[in-house]
Amino acid sequence: MSYNWCHGPECHTNHTQSRVRGSGDNKVLRTIKIKQGSSYRTHERYNMFNYFCGNNCLMDFIRLHLTSIIAIAPRREALETPIKVVKEKYESYRYNWTENGSERVPYQATRTTIKSVDNA
Ligand SMILES: [Zn+2]
Repeated sequence: MSYNWCHGPECHTNHTQSRVRGSGDNKVLRTIKIKQGSSYRTHERYNMFNYFCGNNCLMDFIRLHLTSIIAIAPRREALETPIKVVKEKYESYRYNWTENGSERVPYQATRTTIKSVDNA
């Protein structure tokens, strides 16, 4: 089974039982070892957790190496996504309070929706 050590720069300083190694007076806190290939971590959305034991270690790594990470793929211009903004009128209602309770009053409402544009 192949594995990675968690890349969190502070991983080995967290006081958890799962990090304790050694015996007697020679105990240490050790970086978490991450087994590869669990179905959770093979999902593209979560594969960063092949390298980090959790969000804290991931964020510590990003904070420490932010300048280098940004340098890999700097964003020098804004990106844009073509859209259509559609305004639709629809029947809605509000409640007016009266002496006898509330009454439903219909009115013409407007809904604004952002729609994707198919560029294909
Ligand atoms: Zn970690």
